[in-house]
Amino acid sequence: MKVISNESLRKQKFIVDKMYRKLSRWLRILGYDTIFVSLLNDNEVLNLASSENRFLITRDEDLEQKAKKLKIKTFNVNGKTIEERLVKLQKTTGIELTMPSEIISRCSKCNSKIESINKEKILDRILDGTEKQFDAFWICTNDKCKHIFWKGHHWEEIANSLKICQELIDS
Ligand SMILES: [Zn+2]
Repeated sequence: MKVISNESLRKQKFIVDKMYRKLSRWLRILGYDTIFVSLLNDNEVLNLASSENRFLITRDEDLEQKAKKLKIKTFNVNGKTIEERLVKLQKTTGIELTMPSEIISRCSKCNSKIESINKEKILDRILDGTEKQFDAFWICTNDKCKHIFWKGHHWEEIANSLKICQELIDS
């Protein structure tokens, strides 16, 4: 079996400031290693961005200036909707705005990798209706998180948003 690593498919890494929580979740869903900054100070953010070669997404002009001095790539992703922001990011960083496959998608809550799990093992954690309607499930590999995913309603929303992104790119 050919093993495809996350890293070879989704090379760019991100660090995202407090203003862009939704965008950080999106980047993870799309398979990008993304740190969401909630408790870090400016220096910690800059150190991480620099040492791990992460694109910095921020609305903080001070932080942006400091980052530029350190040659960290930084973006202020303005745009009203999440789709507009994703398209702007696609144009500047070349991220893939395509439906992620399970081997590359990351946990939207904690950024860890996810893996498929047998439904029987998680029956106590999903609702009856969900169990009846879906067969494929994934679980976050982080022991502290263990969030469960399936291709339910939110999956359709993702597909729909990606379609809107494509329309924006084509227009
Ligand atoms: Zn998780």
